[in-house]
Amino acid sequence: MHTEYIEINEINFDETVNKASELIREGKLVVFPTETVYGLGADGLNGQAVRNVYAAKGRPLDNPVILHVSSIEMLDRLVVDRPEISDLLIEKFWPGPLTMIFKKSNIIPKEITAGLDTVAVRMPNRKFTLSLIKASDTPLAGPSANTSGKSSPTSGEHCRHDLDGKVDMIVSDGDTEVGLESTVIDLSVKNPMILRPGAVTFEMLRAYIPNLEIDSTILESSSDLIPKSPGQKYKHYAPDAEALLFTGGNEEIVRNMKEYIAKNRTKKIGVLSTTENVSEFDRENVLVLDMGSRDNLNEVAHRLFGSLREFDRIGVDLILCEGFEENEMGLAVMNRLKKACSNKIIKGENK
Ligand code: AMP
Ligand code: MG
Repeated sequence: MHTEYIEINEINFDETVNKASELIREGKLVVFPTETVYGLGADGLNGQAVRNVYAAKGRPLDNPVILHVSSIEMLDRLVVDRPEISDLLIEKFWPGPLTMIFKKSNIIPKEITAGLDTVAVRMPNRKFTLSLIKASDTPLAGPSANTSGKSSPTSGEHCRHDLDGKVDMIVSDGDTEVGLESTVIDLSVKNPMILRPGAVTFEMLRAYIPNLEIDSTILESSSDLIPKSPGQKYKHYAPDAEALLFTGGNEEIVRNMKEYIAKNRTKKIGVLSTTENVSEFDRENVLVLDMGSRDNLNEVAHRLFGSLREFDRIGVDLILCEGFEENEMGLAVMNRLKKACSNKIIKGENK
């Protein structure tokens, strides 16, 4: 299949919305930008089109996808028994990186929900994509536009790398701002529960939901626990090389990383470091990528997936990743890092 790649600008914006929405209405696949990561879009009410999304990504069929909407009216056609708290969350966080899970209405094809009786919905904060959904007049199915198991794409180029020849169109609109996938909160249960941490943090949500819970598999990564969200059980974000995550106090992290480097001199090592620690590796003969300052985890999140992909491109044997405290944005960053490192963690003694 030929994949049309369009970089949008002010001049071709309207024309691209029209072209992309025609493809969506014909049941075709269009990769679209959002503020979190790029999405692999199809008409979310067309079961066959959604099956093609799974096939293009190589996504397991039991992993449901998120529907992207451009209005509350569209949301209300997709769900039943929408709880009152969702009005407040919509007011505070939409359009934005918060996905809510509701009981589904009967217009949702089974391919969207992988047979569950709930559906995940989000309103993305990108002008192009909101215009595309409106023009298509249908919710867009939109899992991340990467090959399943790899890091989510934060630029049009990442999508082209994974999906060229497998989708009809890729609409590129620069880098995504957040760089991590949306927070997922389940509102279909008695006590709302975070199933995936993201840029709308636990702390931000708890301000409105005092009884908010968090899926215990996000905090403890024991292999005995099964995540509530089907997608969370799969291997994710895996770089080509083996990756290790270092946790503890900052000095301890650096010391343990250097010890590890000393023991593995024959390997080509990549280090994912914060700005503050980059110079620590000057004399180590390793390849260091700067993730941004420890004081700005939004920047770290923004660069994380691109850095993992950069190590794949360069080709290293081993990746050492600096860890963070698991609160606020650190919870989302650590969730992705733990998965990228297949839970191989070198723990320090100090917090
Ligand atoms: P992605 O499409 O890559 O952003 O991943 C979507 C995430 O939302 C996956 O972890 C899915 O398992 C999760 N998800 C989607 N729909 C549901 C649902 N109805 N219940 C629980 N988790 C869901
Ligand atoms: Mg994904």
